[in-house]
Amino acid sequence: MAEYDFDLFVIGAGSGGVRAARVAAMSGARVAVAEEYRVGGTCVIRGCVPKKFMVYASEVKAQLKTAKGYGWTIGEASFDWKSFLHDKDVEIARLSGIYVTNLQKAGAHLLHGRAEIVDAHTVEVLPKAGSKDAGRYTARKILIATGGRPWRPDFPGAELGITSDEAFHLPELPKRVMVVGGGYIAVEFASIFNGLGVQTTLCYRGANILRGFDDDVRAHLADELEKRGIKVVLGCSHEKLEKTETGLLSTFNNDLTFETDAVMFATGRDPYVAGLGLEKVGVKLNDRGAIMVDDYSRTTADNIWAVGDVTDRINLTPVAIREGAAFAQTEFHDNPTTFDHDMVASAVFSQPPVGAVGMSEAQARQAFGKVDIYRAVFRPMKSTFYGGQDRCLMKLVVKPDDQRVVGVHVVGPDSPEIIQMAAIAVKMGVTKPQWDSTCAVHPTLAEELVTMREKYMPSEMGTV
Ligand SMILES: Cc1cc2nc3c(=O)[nH]c(=O)nc-3n(C[C@H](O)[C@H](O)[C@H](O)COP(=O)(O)OP(=O)(O)OC[C@H]3O[C@@H](n4cnc5c(N)ncnc54)[C@H](O)[C@@H]3O)c2cc1C
Repeated sequence: MAEYDFDLFVIGAGSGGVRAARVAAMSGARVAVAEEYRVGGTCVIRGCVPKKFMVYASEVKAQLKTAKGYGWTIGEASFDWKSFLHDKDVEIARLSGIYVTNLQKAGAHLLHGRAEIVDAHTVEVLPKAGSKDAGRYTARKILIATGGRPWRPDFPGAELGITSDEAFHLPELPKRVMVVGGGYIAVEFASIFNGLGVQTTLCYRGANILRGFDDDVRAHLADELEKRGIKVVLGCSHEKLEKTETGLLSTFNNDLTFETDAVMFATGRDPYVAGLGLEKVGVKLNDRGAIMVDDYSRTTADNIWAVGDVTDRINLTPVAIREGAAFAQTEFHDNPTTFDHDMVASAVFSQPPVGAVGMSEAQARQAFGKVDIYRAVFRPMKSTFYGGQDRCLMKLVVKPDDQRVVGVHVVGPDSPEIIQMAAIAVKMGVTKPQWDSTCAVHPTLAEELVTMREKYMPSEMGTV
């Protein structure tokens, strides 16, 4: 072992890399982690965490309206973007510091700088301002955990737009914004801007937002976003983007034009493999440009592994963490472990938010032929009190032969919290009779989930 500087060299101190490094170091292994930007990775620095702070900030407008509906008199309210950004950055720096401390406590060695693979056992850390870590290091095993990067479309003027990376640092809040894309990041940022009082257009080339989610969820959410004031424009894509005296002019393939002050592309993310030196060591990519791995996160090179978004399995923080932990258990604790990617719950922090686990109705129909659907659309009690018009959707997808609940979909307040609990039962293989035997908690939103007894027939669509 001593012929190498380290037993494990981790490239990337994000969700997957940090967890793998800590778990491996706890076995007594000598572990190095290289980070080219900031410790914590996408999730902590420019993903889940700062986004959730922005979600919290942007929800306040609706909460003020609710407060008035419940008898409160609220004076003139205003939002200070710069002060929010400052406080957000302070908190992100604190959290990043905790990641550094945790790595150090576990005994891992942190190296600041971009790492590139030289050969099967050698990594070069490039010089970085303020760091003396540059140099060549050898390691018995290498783990690639470099994450992903926003993908920008290619058309004239596209460089005038921003991505989520820049959205976290906008010097001014625009008055009008166009968010381009239909995935969860697009929908979340459209809700954030709208909540902060920005005139918001969400523009997507597909037939509806949130591809891959249940069709009822997609339709319901699009309606709810519009009710809250977001203009949802579907079926069109950018031809060009031009700077004008008053803003940025978007021209679409169907000749529609929109002027806004900012355009944000949330048009997908690519695995971040550029310049890593993978070809030198035989690490192969799949047709999506992601590192090919087996169930144990082994790449096609003998002593190199990869976890997280760079492998493009399920691109979520808890998944990267579990993949990193499974790798370290297998390789450093003599405990072969794989992560089961089935029935991973997810949330969209839009307004209203979405929680989902398991199959959509369409996926289940394709897999099983027939499905039983249970569905409720209703106005939440909190809104009915003051005449709010928002509606919740709850839907269960059940496999008819063995009555297993294979999908749960919720759109409405607290749905990310609700789905976390539902996911336990679904992961355990709960059947509809077992689900129904669970007594409701009253008065809650979630009780609707355990009181849906009648199978849904499409003629009931739109009932309240
Ligand atoms: C706007 C946004 C919102 C999101 N919201 C959520 C959410 O709500 N919930 C959720 O579960 N997931 C969310 N995600 C996804 C989540 O952030 C990722 O799935 C997760 O961070 C992946 O972890 P990772 O370890 O694979 O990579 P990352 O966290 O991206 O870490 C990779 C690290 O490697 C570093 N790096 C890259 N190349 C090199 C190199 N050559 N040398 C040294 N360092 C390098 C990078 O700087 C980075 O720090 C969001 C993502 C975005 C962009």
